[in-house]
Amino acid sequence: MWVHPIFISRGHGVGFAGPQAQRPPRGAAHYAKRKAWGLMSELHKFIFDGLPVRGMIVRLTDSWQEILKRREAAGGYPAEVMQLLGEMTAAGALMQSSISFNGALILQIFGDGPVKLAVAEVQPDLSLRATATVTGDVPEGSSLSQLVNVKNEGRCAITLDPKDKFPGQQPYQGVVPLFGDRHEKIEKLSEVLEHYMLQSEQLDTRLILAADGNVAAGLLIQRLPVKGQGNLEGQMDRQANEDQIGVNEDYQRIALLAGTLKREELLSLDVDTILRRLFWEEPVTRFEPLAPSFACSCSRKRVGNMLRGLGTAEIESIIAERGQVDVACEFCGAQYEFDPVDAAQLFTHPLQQPPPTATVQ
Ligand SMILES: [Zn+2]
Repeated sequence: MWVHPIFISRGHGVGFAGPQAQRPPRGAAHYAKRKAWGLMSELHKFIFDGLPVRGMIVRLTDSWQEILKRREAAGGYPAEVMQLLGEMTAAGALMQSSISFNGALILQIFGDGPVKLAVAEVQPDLSLRATATVTGDVPEGSSLSQLVNVKNEGRCAITLDPKDKFPGQQPYQGVVPLFGDRHEKIEKLSEVLEHYMLQSEQLDTRLILAADGNVAAGLLIQRLPVKGQGNLEGQMDRQANEDQIGVNEDYQRIALLAGTLKREELLSLDVDTILRRLFWEEPVTRFEPLAPSFACSCSRKRVGNMLRGLGTAEIESIIAERGQVDVACEFCGAQYEFDPVDAAQLFTHPLQQPPPTATVQ
């Protein structure tokens, strides 16, 4: 089931005003200056030389602050929700980079508590956006389960939505529960996602996540898949790879080191310091850092497609009630207005228009 993270205003004004997303210019001088000030979001990949282990560290600063800013006019998020959403966004960037998928990676939590839906979406170029729908009171100090898994009915979905879909192709989606083998509630998002990576990719993964009002950050350590040999690749690969789960000593040692990183350290230290402190005895090779940025992919055309999907009757009833259809993008705050003429045009030439798509706005 695809969820439109979008709000159609019926009666009370919703919007959180804000200018449209602007990609930061990406010149070298811009980089150097912004990096010097610690203002730029960064994702660093590294490998441990000669060992079947790789790592990534992400620090979202300006991009994360932009996501929060877009929410300010609507009152912002409670600190606990901000932490969850920030961790999801950092994790989404790490997973997108880890899977290297040509399409959007969408991390969603469908909650049964005060947070009904939390979404982080990361594109292949690491442009990202995130939003959460909070419908109830969030008590101070709420844990993950108090936010989204009160009755153990919350779940986490990871969707890979290919960029160039053939007609009728559905996105790939994996769903993991927010509880463990004995139905015990999991209180760390990182653990939920570690389970997912093990299930879907057969790869041991260690994740450390943290977020506050300024930074959303994460460290990922992952065992590399076993390389295939000879003709038997597929089968042998898989078996050899599964045999390594939970037993590779190099991975275990490095994951253990990663596990000593404290939340506060992840939030406050720069990448160089973190890597030096954790892995000073390990042979680490680093790659050119990447720059995640905030961007929203909503557009009037996509909103129009979504409205068309609702059907004439629904749209007419909104027009009758409100005089026009107002749609606010939950990710970036952009407002879309469809007056009766615009709305009628949506349904004028149905044969000449693409069918309503079930994609995120
Ligand atoms: Zn938007």
